[in-house]
Amino acid sequence: MTNAHYHCGGETLLSMNGVERRFCGVHPWRAEEVRARETAAALRTALEADGELGVGEIGLDRLWTKAVPAAQRELFTAQLEVAAQLRRPVVLHGAKCWGEVVKAVRPFAAAVPAFLFHGFSRSDGLLPEIFALNGFVSVGRAVLNDHAVNYRELVRKLPLDRILVETDDDSADVQSRDETLAAVFAKTAALTGLTETQLDANAAAFLGTALPERRFVV
Ligand SMILES: [Zn+2]
Repeated sequence: MTNAHYHCGGETLLSMNGVERRFCGVHPWRAEEVRARETAAALRTALEADGELGVGEIGLDRLWTKAVPAAQRELFTAQLEVAAQLRRPVVLHGAKCWGEVVKAVRPFAAAVPAFLFHGFSRSDGLLPEIFALNGFVSVGRAVLNDHAVNYRELVRKLPLDRILVETDDDSADVQSRDETLAAVFAKTAALTGLTETQLDANAAAFLGTALPERRFVV
């Protein structure tokens, strides 16, 4: 079972069959606190030191932050450049500006192995381009909301080989995270026919890695 996106102790993580993979990057909310060039240099150093480190979450936000759009774009692009040069998968953050996020990543799509559109809940008009960019869409807790009719419609339209699931939580409570993940997966499976095997294969495709050994819990 894969949890494509969550946080713990300030880190951005993906876990696949109990094996955690880390992602490193500066979120757009912090765009005015950091300098793009220095952030990119630090990111490069971190990636060069760890061949399994991914990039994220990075992106653009027009909903939850007042950080100046130009500063967000500069920071986003600088980090995309590094991800492209070092060929690492990228976890994307977008809020009320997914069209702009897609536009920004387009020039890097040939070099970045894959993108995770985390928390994506926009209308389905962008899906063809997302898949053309080798993008995966991770389904989140919103799918558990019986009133989220439009979101469930979007989930239903996702091709089986493009779906991941996520909790996007930030807690040290592993048990509650696992329970949330199981619920999100069950609902997503009911809507799409996704199997655990396919989910893990999608995670491996996103990471560009072989599937780690399945860990059985006795
Ligand atoms: Zn997150």
